[in-house]
Amino acid sequence: MKTVLIGVGQAGGKLTRELADFDSRMGFGAVLGAIGVNTAEADLRELPFETVLVGQDRVKGHGVGGDNELGAEVMQSDKQEVLAALDGRITAEAEAIFVVAGLGGGTGSGGAPVLVKELKRIYDVPVYALGVLPGRNEGAMYQVNAGRSLKTVAREADSLLLVDNDAFRATGESLGEGYDAINREIAQRVGLLFASGEAVEGVGESVVDSSEVINTLRSGGIAALGYASGESAENAEGNINTVMSTTRRALMTGTSLPEANEADAALLVVAGVPDKIPRKGVERARRWLEEETGSLQIRGGDFPLDSDRIASLILLGGVERSDRLKRFMARAKEAQKEAEEEAAKQEDPADAWRNDELEDLL
Ligand code: GDP
Repeated sequence: MKTVLIGVGQAGGKLTRELADFDSRMGFGAVLGAIGVNTAEADLRELPFETVLVGQDRVKGHGVGGDNELGAEVMQSDKQEVLAALDGRITAEAEAIFVVAGLGGGTGSGGAPVLVKELKRIYDVPVYALGVLPGRNEGAMYQVNAGRSLKTVAREADSLLLVDNDAFRATGESLGEGYDAINREIAQRVGLLFASGEAVEGVGESVVDSSEVINTLRSGGIAALGYASGESAENAEGNINTVMSTTRRALMTGTSLPEANEADAALLVVAGVPDKIPRKGVERARRWLEEETGSLQIRGGDFPLDSDRIASLILLGGVERSDRLKRFMARAKEAQKEAEEEAAKQEDPADAWRNDELEDLL
């Protein structure tokens, strides 16, 4: 799926860089181009592609802190500059646009929904978002920001592919140390998804096509991506077991949104040397996936790749009913309530007469 990437905010920019790097290192050619957008000038300096500094008149290149309402406002005012930077990049070849952002911060959290909405208005190709959820241990502001941003992006985008920072965190590692490792994990999975349909070697009936990705995401809402790999065996029987076990692990322990097992639609991509991909194993894995996800819309395809491993990549569309997401939304709501109570406590008693819980008489 030939894709143009727009990284918004710090996490969005770094992830976009990682995605573009992975695609070029692997020689896939699925990433057609990338730009970075931020309110913080320093964060843009590290990006090796065209960048747009927004909100200069409001924050002078210093970022919006964690204020995602300000992030949304400056994106709204300066969206023309972003569109100008994109001009000529969304060519006839482009099959999708991905807006990439951390949902818990300010610029990406507030800016991504505004940008997605604007891009949907202008372009005919699907506009997706790749959004990062804050880890459980991040502060209340991150949870509230992410809750609000998630709701809005999921409504505006053709689909929101969610990545939970807790899903990839190695035990004992602080989140800061872990970012680079997390970003590499995400880039590998999402990079393989972009490249699905771009493979040229061993083109055959069963090779996955970009339209399968787009059709799986057609159910809208929220999507997740699972991945696991294992060493390929010498014989077919061994490889049937490998495909079954990588598919199980991809769904059970390898998804970008843990416990998102129920889905409206799913796509199973099996990557490896074409001769080693066992048809029987792929069929069995698809049936298993159908049972596990409760979805009758299971698509599948091979991804020919020169490797001594076999990998299963599972795209799940329509996972909004998952327990993990329900728990996250409850966490965001709780954080919002606490923040409001805290703000009420801080109010100057002299202002108490303004209390807006009492309705005005006139
Ligand atoms: P912004 O620049 O205002 O959009 O804010 P950030 O992009 O820094 O967003 C903060 C959120 O993104 C927090 O929840 C962080 O945990 C997360 N985050 C920041 N940097 C990274 C990163 O490089 N990788 C990942 N996966 N998450 C990040």
